[in-house]
Amino acid sequence: MRTPIFLCSICNVSSGSCSEDCAFCSQSAFYEADIQRYKFKSMQEILEEAKYAKAHGAIGFCLVTAGKGLDKKKLEYISEAVKTVKEALPDFENIIACNGTASLEQLKILKEAGATSYNHNLESSREFYPNIVTSHSWDERYQTCLHVKQAGLNLVCGGIFGLGESEADRISFVAAIKSLQPMVVPINFFHPNDALPIKEKPLDIDKALELITYVRHEMPEAIIMVAGGREFTFGARQAEIFGAGANSIVIGNYLTTQGNLPDADIAMIHSLGLGIAKTCHG
Ligand code: SF4
Repeated sequence: MRTPIFLCSICNVSSGSCSEDCAFCSQSAFYEADIQRYKFKSMQEILEEAKYAKAHGAIGFCLVTAGKGLDKKKLEYISEAVKTVKEALPDFENIIACNGTASLEQLKILKEAGATSYNHNLESSREFYPNIVTSHSWDERYQTCLHVKQAGLNLVCGGIFGLGESEADRISFVAAIKSLQPMVVPINFFHPNDALPIKEKPLDIDKALELITYVRHEMPEAIIMVAGGREFTFGARQAEIFGAGANSIVIGNYLTTQGNLPDADIAMIHSLGLGIAKTCHG
């Protein structure tokens, strides 16, 4: 098992009502899922969440907005949020922005504001993508990832398994992520929601563990983070993700679903004899 384990926390700063039709996402306005929808949390709320995450050992704090991408207003808001967190918690090492499609210029502005990383997932293979999203292209996603690297930000790039993709899609998807050499690879597992058009059964636990091992094998140097769907997919076998090759998890809640309490995850990690990372470099 790899140690230490990197903990990251997600702050959904603007939730729901997205104009895109991603068939796996409860924030899409197309599917009217029963989720909380709100625009732009206050800086105070964001700061409280950042402090909570930091107090529970997170070294990554990710500011996520629903929607296709950045516009002027959102860019200013996220830049302010980054600065607010940085000023109050200067040793919070990894401030990640996750705000969809972004130009090189927009990403440079986020870097100026103090963001260290940008998260943009490829979600699935280029071949499978039109089955799950029609409102924008996979190529557009890949291009934003290239912009992230050009802007000098660390790239956080992964996706989601269990959408009905084939084994060939999985191989193609992981190869595409590998080609971008991200610092962190978030792996999500589809969490069904009655409102969504995808009706796939959850992945078998052994299959899901096998996929983690495959991603680890393909990207031995990356931080492999198991993100959304961990509790739902692995249940009482969550601890096995570390033996399979993961060395990072998201603590606390996800974008629209609840996670374990951070203390329970920390206790699980300690019970395995694993340490918690104090910096991005271990
Ligand atoms: S994945 Fe992102 S772009 Fe797609 S519907 Fe959800 S919030 Fe919108």
